Amino acid sequence: MKISEIFYSIQGEGMLAGVPSVFVRTSGCNLRCTWCDTPYTSWQPEGEERDVDSIVAEVEKYGASHVVVTGGEPMIAPQIDELTHRVQGHITIETAGTTDAQVRCDLMSISPKLANSTPHGRENGRWAGQHDRLRYQPEILRRLTQLYPHQLKFVVAEPGDMTEVHAIVESTGVAKTRVLLMPEGVDPAALAERGRWIAEICKREGYRFSPRMHIELWGNRRGV
Ligand code: SF4
Repeated sequence: MKISEIFYSIQGEGMLAGVPSVFVRTSGCNLRCTWCDTPYTSWQPEGEERDVDSIVAEVEKYGASHVVVTGGEPMIAPQIDELTHRVQGHITIETAGTTDAQVRCDLMSISPKLANSTPHGRENGRWAGQHDRLRYQPEILRRLTQLYPHQLKFVVAEPGDMTEVHAIVESTGVAKTRVLLMPEGVDPAALAERGRWIAEICKREGYRFSPRMHIELWGNRRGV
């Protein structure tokens, strides 16, 4: 499977924010979010082919209790099922929730992509149609939330995005305490500005607020 990077850091987002974790980042994605913060796994996928043995050995080297399998879209990576069954410890899988696989997973961290992600303005909009068709798969979301402990994590750019968030939450029946709103942005100033009005929405509606600690701590860098 194609691996972009393996590194040890803290989980920056979601219900496990702050937990030291080894990150395994697969390369390759079926979506093309216009604001993708890991374009080296989607728009210009980079990485090296690795076998499961070598990935497991590198993860074990850190001796961490938590492992985060992320991407790209890890659920489309070949051998994702074998990898998640072989790696020890608590596993979070970070997925857009558009496709299914037979994985072992302790927290399915699903980030359904809203209309704000559609790349109308990039590469003459050539990915926009496919992205829009694939980005929201209600049946798969329902199945993943029934099969695994889960959280729904939404990247929110504008207050108007909340109409879609409410509709998706209602359709999946996920408890609001498992729904996180996260500001869109890759620089601390934009995150703080958006974060303030998103926090007010959380207070009003009962959703959780998700920080992006890794950006606050280290900026928009790879491998942190
Ligand atoms: S789903 Fe994730 S990796 Fe894929 S394009 Fe969107 S933000 Fe990037």
